[in-house]
Amino acid sequence: MSKTIFQKIIDREIPANILYEDNHIIAIEDINPVAPVHALIIPKKCIPTLNDIDSVDIDIVGKMFIVAKKLAKEFKIDESGYRTVFNCNDDGGQTVDHIHLHLIGRRKLNWPPG
Ligand code: AMP
Repeated sequence: MSKTIFQKIIDREIPANILYEDNHIIAIEDINPVAPVHALIIPKKCIPTLNDIDSVDIDIVGKMFIVAKKLAKEFKIDESGYRTVFNCNDDGGQTVDHIHLHLIGRRKLNWPPG
């Protein structure tokens, strides 16, 4: 299987603006932001879609939200509010087959989403 764009970023084959990194997670700025704050929180383990998460992934998925919370505080959007989103497959709008949590904020977000 060929590497996803996120795997290439993790492996430093292509550049990204890295906001956070540890042994299991990397967080980057989205290259095409939909809001003034748009970060992607990505596990280093390549799990293609939410349909592929398993009980062994509970820690990593939980930690993704801890990183989202930390970044929201750093961006000072924790009090004003923000949205976290996992897109899944075509109807969900997923374009990169390596799960990632979007952190979006610093503007009023519409609901329901388009
Ligand atoms: P999704 O559509 O949920 O799969 O989200 C994929 C996201 O990755 C989109 O918001 C893209 O703008 C973003 N993206 C794609 N390529 C890059 C890249 N090289 N660096 C940063 N973000 C990217």
